[in-house]
Amino acid sequence: MNYDVAIIGAGMAGASFAYEIASAVSDQYSIIMLEAEDQPGYHSTGRSAAFWTESYGGPQIQPLTTASFDFLNDPPKEFSPTGFLAKRGAVNIMRDGEDHLLRGFLTEFAESGVTMTPWERDRITAIVPNLKAGWDKAVYEPDCCDIDVAALHMAYLRAAKRRGVTLSCKARVETIEHVDGAWTITAGGHVIRAKKIINAAGAWAGEIGRMASVTPIEIQPMRRTMVQLRTNPPSTPEMPLVVALDGSFYFKPEAGGSFWLSPHDETPVTPGDAAPEEWDVAVAIERFHSVVDIEVEAVSRKWAGLRSFAPDRLPVYGFDPQQADFFWFAGQGGFGIQTAPAAAKLAKSLFLDMEREACARSLDAGLYAPARFAG
Ligand SMILES: Cc1cc2nc3c(=O)[nH]c(=O)nc-3n(C[C@H](O)[C@H](O)[C@H](O)COP(=O)(O)OP(=O)(O)OC[C@H]3O[C@@H](n4cnc5c(N)ncnc54)[C@H](O)[C@@H]3O)c2cc1C
Repeated sequence: MNYDVAIIGAGMAGASFAYEIASAVSDQYSIIMLEAEDQPGYHSTGRSAAFWTESYGGPQIQPLTTASFDFLNDPPKEFSPTGFLAKRGAVNIMRDGEDHLLRGFLTEFAESGVTMTPWERDRITAIVPNLKAGWDKAVYEPDCCDIDVAALHMAYLRAAKRRGVTLSCKARVETIEHVDGAWTITAGGHVIRAKKIINAAGAWAGEIGRMASVTPIEIQPMRRTMVQLRTNPPSTPEMPLVVALDGSFYFKPEAGGSFWLSPHDETPVTPGDAAPEEWDVAVAIERFHSVVDIEVEAVSRKWAGLRSFAPDRLPVYGFDPQQADFFWFAGQGGFGIQTAPAAAKLAKSLFLDMEREACARSLDAGLYAPARFAG
């Protein structure tokens, strides 16, 4: 099987990139997406907390998140007639005595244009009832939204397929060799030849880089735990995302009056099928109890997923500095959904050496270039 481009991984990264390239040049390029699992979206993409919030990931991620808003909110009609976002609002909250965190947070985003309003207790308790004493200040981000992640991912896959991209599942890439100017890849019992590789393998991106003998970029997977709680009182749909400014938890209301809660854990692990640890579930509930007076009746669901980071915690988009036929699209950390549209458009312009679309024009590609790891 011969292709111009082989994309490794069909999560949000691979799917969004496949769509963008195929939209630009489907008549000139044959593209295959190789996915190890039975179905795409089994790993990080299917396990996210599903929010879009501009401050999440820090000021060097925010431009990617902001630039993705228009696509997520009002995508091309073939994607969705209604868009993928639903207004939520985020309360970035602090304990008494943590004013330095609040000041630092506001300073970090002072030039960003992100709407942020300092709130006192009475404003907070109007939308976060049962708030315990000692949590009296917050920064409110009204623009935070929920993302319909599954619909977005499926829409990218469908749109890519319509443009001729082949998706091959149960095709775990096992070997990669560069011979006579082309890649030979073995995956799922097949041998595939491709002129270029795009590494969108999420937690396995470092492993794929090593397999291809390109610049060794360490992409470290970190386990993050999520629990779904049944509580008394239950959540209400108008509650916001509540994020601790000290990075110790977040929670938000979910369908049926439940909460989704994370202890914001980051445990370095080897790539694999992440599962939650009881300890992290207990820590999550303890932290929830420290901020709201809400009884936890049951953990109705728990899961874990991998957020994968380069050493500087910025994503890696671009051609390998030593191997011009290998493109990195990795290190999407905890922001790979909310940044997907702009990231894929930026990466397309780098991959095809074409002019950037308006939303990606002001992004600083140098920040995310793999060349920063050369030497
Ligand atoms: C608990 C949690 C909460 C999160 N919350 C949010 C959030 O609210 N908002 C947000 O924007 N982001 C969030 N994220 C981050 C987001 O989920 C990720 O950044 C994003 O899903 C990464 O997409 P990906 O395609 O790179 O990875 P993945 O979805 O993991 O896809 C990579 C794919 O590559 C495949 N693969 C790997 N190795 C091979 C191989 N050798 N051969 C073939 N295929 C291979 C895998 O099977 C996998 O399907 C969260 C993550 C977690 C874990």
